[in-house]
Amino acid sequence: MEGAGLARKDFNGTNSIDFFKNRIIFPTKCGPNVVFMSGRDLTNKSSRKYLNIPGPNDALINEDLLYKKPPYVILTEGYIDCYTLVQNKFPSVGLAGCNRKKKSVVDKLINIPKIYIMFDFDPNGSGDKGAINTAYQLCRRGHKQVFICHLPHNGLDKTDINQLYIEIKNGFTGIIKDVLINSTRPFHETDEYKKMEYEEQFKPISYNDMAAADSIAVYEKYLQLQVISNKYLRCCCPFHGETQPSFTVYIGSGLGRCFGCGLEFENGRDFEEAFLAKQTLERMSGI
Ligand SMILES: [Zn+2]
Repeated sequence: MEGAGLARKDFNGTNSIDFFKNRIIFPTKCGPNVVFMSGRDLTNKSSRKYLNIPGPNDALINEDLLYKKPPYVILTEGYIDCYTLVQNKFPSVGLAGCNRKKKSVVDKLINIPKIYIMFDFDPNGSGDKGAINTAYQLCRRGHKQVFICHLPHNGLDKTDINQLYIEIKNGFTGIIKDVLINSTRPFHETDEYKKMEYEEQFKPISYNDMAAADSIAVYEKYLQLQVISNKYLRCCCPFHGETQPSFTVYIGSGLGRCFGCGLEFENGRDFEEAFLAKQTLERMSGI
């Protein structure tokens, strides 16, 4: 249980305690296998709403749906909104916290004919901002059928898909259908898109949401990096046995790449996830 990340030692290191205590566990599946687990706090007392088991995770919520080639999907934020739609027979996939701004999200969605983005309605517009960023990345790759949907909020200053469902239960399916029908203007035709495209000339699009210097600090925590030039750092790859260093960290971007085994990390956080997961696996198998 400890090896799999489902239990951990208590403060004194004597008893095992449930890693997901008082949390509802959402497994992420890839084909028949569970590849990741996330626990949502049920007490509303924890400072962390979601707790993730250590390890890398690139999967979208309900990602299996994409392999069935649906004519459209509704992209949501988080597990609860996604599964609220799925329970009401809408094809939905969700972004998990770790998916923000990732290129892999765009790669996974790019071949779906129509994408409706249905994020939270909130006063500071963070849901809207996230929707616009994702829509922009898809349009930039040539997708012409991306729509940003606006949830009806009936005067509330904050709402999301699940809250809407709780409030109106019976009329929910009809309301979501209306939202889809009324989302007729593809994002690439909006002024917002044109403005972003114009601004991109001055500031190239970046999927990486971690500053390069922060990434370098994380790599240095785990690796003995040697300075090769003002552009690169290098060391032996921690993921495959080698004596000639081929793991390269790019100072300007924080990207890490092994020229031996081909592994690549967008930033220090991605590297750390994979590195810690490898350590956990080694502990489990007693290497
Ligand atoms: Zn390697």
